[in-house]
Amino acid sequence: MQRHISTDILVIGGGVAGFGAALGAASQGARVHLVEGTSKIGGVMAFCPGMPWGGGYPTGRSIGGVFAALTDQLCAMDPPMAQVRPSTLENFGHEVIYDHEAAVFAMFQMLEDAGVHVHLNTFVGDPVLDGARIRRVACTDRTGPMTIDPFMVIDCSGDGDLSARAGVPFTVGDGRGNMMGVTLSFSMLNAAWDQVFAKGDPYFQEEAAAGIAAGRLHPDLAKLYLMRGFHKDTVFCNSVHIRGVDGTDPQQIVRATQEGRRRCHQLARFLIDNVPGFQQARMSELGPTVGVRETRKLAAVHRILARDLAAGAKPADGIVCCDNPIDDVMRGGSDMTHDAIVSSGDYYTIPFRAMVPESIENLLFAGRLVCADPAAFASVRGMPQCMAMGQAAGIAAAMALADGRAVQAVDHAAIIVARLAQGVRGIGGDDLRRYAPALNA
Ligand SMILES: Cc1cc2nc3c(=O)[nH]c(=O)nc-3n(C[C@H](O)[C@H](O)[C@H](O)COP(=O)(O)OP(=O)(O)OC[C@H]3O[C@@H](n4cnc5c(N)ncnc54)[C@H](O)[C@@H]3O)c2cc1C
Repeated sequence: MQRHISTDILVIGGGVAGFGAALGAASQGARVHLVEGTSKIGGVMAFCPGMPWGGGYPTGRSIGGVFAALTDQLCAMDPPMAQVRPSTLENFGHEVIYDHEAAVFAMFQMLEDAGVHVHLNTFVGDPVLDGARIRRVACTDRTGPMTIDPFMVIDCSGDGDLSARAGVPFTVGDGRGNMMGVTLSFSMLNAAWDQVFAKGDPYFQEEAAAGIAAGRLHPDLAKLYLMRGFHKDTVFCNSVHIRGVDGTDPQQIVRATQEGRRRCHQLARFLIDNVPGFQQARMSELGPTVGVRETRKLAAVHRILARDLAAGAKPADGIVCCDNPIDDVMRGGSDMTHDAIVSSGDYYTIPFRAMVPESIENLLFAGRLVCADPAAFASVRGMPQCMAMGQAAGIAAAMALADGRAVQAVDHAAIIVARLAQGVRGIGGDDLRRYAPALNA
């Protein structure tokens, strides 16, 4: 028999944006169902275990909100399960590294405490529209089909399949179809940090060049981005990028993941044989699938433009601060860029309107499918910002429901007031720079 659920708010996707959205909506008293296609929440964070949360400290200060609540919780554990540290890469500011299992546990706990109904291994399919509203959403899990009738939908799926099927216009990648490279990550355990990081080049370019010249590494591995993991003598390898993969095509993902495994094993062998400090190390936490940076960007009532970010724009409906560089990884013919987008000591805020579709009245979206031009997207996509976008969308969806309004008519000022009440900083006229720098910053 077909199962059927009615809910106030349906969050599609349990990545960091979906996590934030579910908590944001639940904080306003809404009944929330979160539907995630895989067996874990986290999205990219789960696919690339140990990936640091970057971008949470514009000008060295915490953005606050759900990101800060999660980080504080992990840092307060005995022993601490997270740490704030400066990134080794230029223009990235501070980042959070954490114990992956502790973080996932804490995130599930926060969802449970908030009363969110979490559906794992459940895939969202087609929407049924009733005029300008999504009336029903088809889902499937192992027991068969299920339908959900939501008052509000927040698409945090990264790829926006449902929104696209509901008719929301979109662009793909840079607008010409070029998407950033996908990445398979892994860690090396028992790597002697003092030897591994003795030279100070985060990219290990000399070693990489030798490996490529000897035919032991793929030519795209000219920059090995290796960083200290959270636990002593672990090294996180965010190195194996694969170009030209369409993240919305499941078969391309399967092939890219196997190609990624090939290159990761090859790289691990190379590190053990050739890079001082890795001799006693072994590979661990190879991602279950490649992490996808970029696919669709949905069209919204406002498009985030790089030129506004460069000017340090802080619009009245700005919902989170950011000063991340333009972090572009192998989009089209490019290699990698980390160019600053905003002048040092300044930041910009991400407007709520970039998550609001033009015509569907009960749909918001958040996370990496936000409406932005390619350079702006390469800056706004950090995990703390995605969490914050989600949290703001959750609050706004609950407000739209409570007020009986379309999402396009939600009072922006009320969203900002609610965000500030949840500890978000640097928005609504508040200046982030009035806060003390973050712990360890
Ligand atoms: C390799 C890589 C390295 C990165 N490095 C960093 C970094 O160092 N620091 C940083 O802060 N950020 C980094 N980023 C960026 C950041 O990780 C992402 O932008 C962010 O995690 C996106 O979060 P999201 O929730 O919007 O989307 P995702 O993480 O993609 O989550 C979407 C979720 O939706 C689910 N889903 C999709 N379709 C459906 C469906 N139909 N039904 C049900 N569920 C569905 C997916 O399974 C997934 O769990 C990196 C990204 C990648 C890929």
